[in-house]
Formats: sequence, structure tokens, C-alpha cells
Amino acid sequence: MRELRGKAVADALKEKMKAFLERIDEADRPQLAIVRVGERPDDLAYERTVLKNCGLIGLPVRVEALKDDVTTDELLERIRQLNEDDAVRGILVFRPLPDSIDEQAVIRAVAMEKDVDCMNPQNLQCLMVSDRRAIAPCTPEAVMRILEYYGVELEGKNVVIVNRSTVIGRPLSVMLLEKNATVTVCHSRTRNLAEITSRADIVITGVGRARFFGPEYFNENSVVIDIGINFDENGACGDVDDKTVADGVAAITPVPGGVGTVTSSVLLSHVLPEAFR
Ligand code: NAP
Repeated sequence: MRELRGKAVADALKEKMKAFLERIDEADRPQLAIVRVGERPDDLAYERTVLKNCGLIGLPVRVEALKDDVTTDELLERIRQLNEDDAVRGILVFRPLPDSIDEQAVIRAVAMEKDVDCMNPQNLQCLMVSDRRAIAPCTPEAVMRILEYYGVELEGKNVVIVNRSTVIGRPLSVMLLEKNATVTVCHSRTRNLAEITSRADIVITGVGRARFFGPEYFNENSVVIDIGINFDENGACGDVDDKTVADGVAAITPVPGGVGTVTSSVLLSHVLPEAFR
């Protein structure tokens, strides 16, 4: 069994971005703007991670920290200013926003080309019609980056995704179709799930249930991408019961250390699309 570790994929992305930024004077570098409302511990922890990752590649970050009694109009005005600021090339709004804020209005206000977290539905619309301007959601793109990095061929392959959410399964199905895979999307009402997944070349799981998938869901040639992040008595684990499955498949992403490890680098890559052309 081959372990498809995320670190190598994330490091390769970071290297490319770092090399790209080193060629630009610090004052002229594109910036990421973080918009944070209030001081939720989750947001502060995420902010520290993003700041650390930006520091590693030399990407300047601006944090717009707003009080949690900010109004929707004030927040929209701040987003409008960031949209118009040429130095800012990516805007990341931490969610969930307080109940008092019209989150949908905020999401839709972020300029499509600066929407690095693919919150604005306009980006999903573009993805659907193969518009090159689309910024893909980070987790599906992390999956695609892992498959590409490890040379997993997609053309003509049967790929089963067990997730139909708007942030994972739906956009991922479109991205895989773009690569000429034959895609099946499964969900909680799918019948005979193990029969479907065990016939696939590639199985991508995102059900959010600790160690749900045992050996009966796979075959010895399966490539398994485990998106799930769950917790059991031993700490973080995926949707796949890696202890019983690992020896019976061709390749698998670990949890932790798989898809999640790549996601944050993908987000930064959306600020610097030129680094990947
Ligand atoms: P979600 O909206 O709850 O979606 C879960 C999907 O799994 C749904 O499509 C659901 O089907 C399906 N499902 C649930 N139980 C099932 C079952 N018994 N059999 C078949 N399908 C089943 O969650 P999400 O936001 O997409 O996230 C999914 C997982 O990915 C979570 O564990 C989350 O922590 C993880 N995640 C990881 C990353 C990363 O970077 N690695 C990023 C985001 C999320 P229905 O549609 O029928 O309900």
C-alpha cells in the first residue's frame, strides 16, 4: 500500500509560491486580507495558522479585525474597500459570522477574483461551466492536487465520491469530469454503497463518520482519498478504518496528514495564480 501523504504536496505548492514571491519586492507583493469579526477562539487559531503559513512563503497579510457588533452595512463597506484595493489579491472572511450579520450578502459581496475560499456562489457557477476564471473550493482542489502529485491517472477511471455537499462532493464531481473521469456521487440514501465503491478505481470519502469504511468497500487496486476529519478515543481519524483497510488497497491518504494538510496551501495558491502558470 502506498501512502499518499499531504505534506509533500503542500511543500511543493509552498516552494512554488515562495520562489515566485522572492522575485517581487516586498512592498509590491500581492496581499491576502483576512476579515475577522469578533474574537472567537476558532477564528483566532485559524488566523494564527494562516499568518504562519503566509510568513513561511513571504506573502503579506492584512488582518481586518472588526468588533462583533459591526453591522452588515459596515462590513459590506469594508469588503467593498478591499475589493477596490489593487494591493489586495485575496479576501478571506472567517465564518460563521455573528447571527446579526447577513452572511449571504457578505459572501456575495466578495469580488469573484479575490474570493480565495470560494464562498461566492458565482465561483461555483463558473466552475460548473468550465469558466477558467473560477476559483475552486479548497478541499476539492486539495484532492485534485494530491491525485496529480502522485500521478494517479483519472482519464476513463471510475471515481466514486461519497459526499454530495456544495463544498466537497458537487464541485469535486465537476473537477473530476473535467479530467475525463467517470464519476458517481453517493450519499446517505445510496443503496448498496459497498457494492458501488468496491468496483471503483478511486474512492473519495467525506461522510464525517469515524472509521466508517471497512475493507468491504474497496478492492486491492483501490486508490482511497479520505477527506473526513473525525475524532475517536485515539484522537483525529478519517472516514476509513485504515487499520483494517490499509493492506487491502493500492494507495490511501492518511488522516491526519492527508487532504487537510494540503487545503491551507491551496487557499494561499488562490492569492497567487500567476505562480502556477
Ligand atoms: P456534510 O455536508 O455533512 O456532508 C456529508 C456527506 O456524507 C453528505 O453528502 C451525506 O449524505 C454523506 N453521508 C453521511 N452519512 C452517510 C452514509 N452513512 N452513507 C453514505 N453517505 C453518507 O459534511 P461536509 O461539510 O461535506 O464534510 C464532510 C467531511 O469532510 C467532514 O468529516 C469534515 O470534517 C470533512 N472536511 C474535511 C476537510 C479537509 O480539508 N480535509 C475540509 C472540509 C470538511 P446526505 O447528503 O444524504 O446527507
